[in-house]
Amino acid sequence: MERLLTGLQPSGTLTIGNYCGGINQICKYQETYETFLFVPDMHAITVPQDPEQLHKNIRQAVGLYLACGVDASLDNMHIYIQSENPYHANLSWILECHSYYGELARMHQFKMKSKNNESFTAGLVTYPVLMAADILLYDAKYVPTGVDQKQHVELARNLAERMNSRYQEECFVVPEPMIPEVGAKIRDLANPLNKMSKSADNPKASVFLMDTPEEIKKKIMRATTDSDGKIAFDEENKPGVSNLLTIYSVFAGVSLDDTVARFDGGGYGDLKKAVAEVLAERLTVFQDKYAEIMKSGIVDDALDRGGEYARQIAAEKYEKIRKIVGFGRI
Ligand code: ATP
Ligand code: MG
Repeated sequence: MERLLTGLQPSGTLTIGNYCGGINQICKYQETYETFLFVPDMHAITVPQDPEQLHKNIRQAVGLYLACGVDASLDNMHIYIQSENPYHANLSWILECHSYYGELARMHQFKMKSKNNESFTAGLVTYPVLMAADILLYDAKYVPTGVDQKQHVELARNLAERMNSRYQEECFVVPEPMIPEVGAKIRDLANPLNKMSKSADNPKASVFLMDTPEEIKKKIMRATTDSDGKIAFDEENKPGVSNLLTIYSVFAGVSLDDTVARFDGGGYGDLKKAVAEVLAERLTVFQDKYAEIMKSGIVDDALDRGGEYARQIAAEKYEKIRKIVGFGRI
């Protein structure tokens, strides 16, 4: 089985954007690929986190993966916490020494997150390298992600190719981003030019997977659209309306064309009502499952099993790379 790998930072409660770009794709492909699904808690501290809250977010993230349909009982599903595996940081250091400051400082995410902030951490600049280590340690071929992380997967590709050619050995498999056709960039409800993010300043602009039907309704009914009044999918000129159509399409399981046809000729109010209803219905199902999962011991069971397996694979790879670069004794 080829390998697929992804992680979602426990920097807040997961959003419907994280579902579309990450979890939904895992669910779709979990029978096809050996899947490495991890909680990147080391990435979360690139911006300040409250330690108590971080612990809670980590557990909640795994509960939500499972509630949304990730099947921890599959033999080919490995769920683990990044910080429970020392090889991510170890490999990251080696990769940092094969990365150029200029290429890291050019990353869109870095530019966005450091904007208007003079005291950003060095980790914010180097975290794409840690992400490359997350991927390359496991020789993952496919990395499900939204468009926002495409550039980081490209960095992982470049680093894999750079190391393979510098040492004249197959150090790493060269990974590919796996970007969904629909839902690769769910937009911020208040400013649809931005992407929706779990750690955005305005929580009213994101729908979180734990939101109540009332919260969902309020947020969706207030979502920014435009003054044109016509329902059409046009991301450039009508980003707000296109976002609502996209959300409906993913959560109702209807193609984008059929979604557009369904609402064609109607008003924005009707579209918003339908989006709020479909979201409330789907998220309530996830939340009911989540409540059951959190009462069982399945989160810890999955993490113990996945952690042990991941450490074993990562240790082998790290040992190989450490020798290749010349560390330690002959
Ligand atoms: P943060 O604000 O802390 O960066 P985030 O919401 O951007 O949180 P990440 O943990 O950075 O989430 O990303 C987790 C996964 O979710 C990645 O695969 C990313 O591409 C995907 N993703 C994040 N936001 C969106 C979005 N708005 N639409 C589609 N996919 C998204
Ligand atoms: Mg992000």
